[in-house]
Amino acid sequence: MSADAAFDLILRNARLAAEAAPVDIGIRQGRIAALGSLGHATAPVSVDAAGRAVLPGFVDTHVHLDKACLLGRCGHNQNNAKGGGDLSAAIRAVSELKRGFTEDDVYARGARVLEKAIVKGTTRMRTHVEIDPRIGLRSFAAIKQLKQDYAWAIDLQICAFPQEGLTNDPGTEELLVAALKDGADLLGGCPYTDSAPHEQIARLFRLARHFDVDLDFHLDFDLDPSWRHLDEVCRQTIAQGWQGRVAIGHVTKLSALPPEDFTATAKLLADSGVALTVLPATDLYLTGRNVSHNIPRGLTLAHRLVQQGVTCSIATNNVLNPFTPFGDASLLRMANFYANVAQVDPGDFTACLDMVTHLPARLMKLSDYGIAVGNPADLVVLEAVSPGDALAELAEPCMVFKAGRQTVQRDAARILRG
Ligand SMILES: [Zn+2]
Repeated sequence: MSADAAFDLILRNARLAAEAAPVDIGIRQGRIAALGSLGHATAPVSVDAAGRAVLPGFVDTHVHLDKACLLGRCGHNQNNAKGGGDLSAAIRAVSELKRGFTEDDVYARGARVLEKAIVKGTTRMRTHVEIDPRIGLRSFAAIKQLKQDYAWAIDLQICAFPQEGLTNDPGTEELLVAALKDGADLLGGCPYTDSAPHEQIARLFRLARHFDVDLDFHLDFDLDPSWRHLDEVCRQTIAQGWQGRVAIGHVTKLSALPPEDFTATAKLLADSGVALTVLPATDLYLTGRNVSHNIPRGLTLAHRLVQQGVTCSIATNNVLNPFTPFGDASLLRMANFYANVAQVDPGDFTACLDMVTHLPARLMKLSDYGIAVGNPADLVVLEAVSPGDALAELAEPCMVFKAGRQTVQRDAARILRG
């Protein structure tokens, strides 16, 4: 920063909302230092957003970097042959492949996904990493290295979790403890693969209290509303005083509830301070596999839960593996996909954007998030005139900034007329 410059960088003509005039964003030492009209202010670098939509960097609360990019390995074909492509077949396929994962392999596949996410404007991410006696701490070690090596572009939170059960998988709890002592930021759970689901939930709450960490469960991932683990998680959350520190992911069962039960469940989640993440790509790909026609969507209507006071996020989950053989790690695409499948009206498009920005930031307790003076300058400039248009048109991010430093530049496609 030169001595007479007020800022290190000014991003000019940034449109923060459809109805608002563009503003200038002055950045100093990585943080937003001023917002408004900075006409005569000086900075060594000045970038013109030219009235394009600018959002805070996207926040992905649920990504599996360790098991991404497995398409083409034998497990995926086995998945479809053995199990009809459902959830248990995907878990089985990855369980077999996992034994062969090396640290370098996990690092390379995770880096590929992180770079996709960075290009698409994600600046903060929670990644779930599988911990059990088959993989040991190899994936965890690779993810820790990725967290360090990509800190220039993205903040990674590491959630250690037992994908294949806890009480039924001896040695897993000791490994989770080792991960928590060695840099895991929080603890995940997956009661539906455990032979004693409530015991798993209880043990995870005990560990969370002991290590003073948050919890994030994979939960209720089918379409049978006759039973669920959600009530036990909410009960324990209140009993342990962990309100605001617990999230649950998938929860596709809620898509099978009639309206009055859905409303009652929303109240329970809001009252318990339990947040919910939908994972549209996986939820749609894996559920309803036993149905031949009129296939249910299997996507919980998160924007309706938000209207009732629940903190909800839309997240990526899996990329190019047996759980989801698609993926570019774009949260804007996921929000667009959600809006399409959930039949969201254009007036609520910005509410869908909230579920890939401010609400996941709240879920992850990121108190320094958003376009406001004092926060890190994590910004994405989209090729659209308003945030709602960006969602509708699946606009490309043309510039991304992490802590005030530009990390991505994408030049617009040009038509070469004949
Ligand atoms: Zn997951």
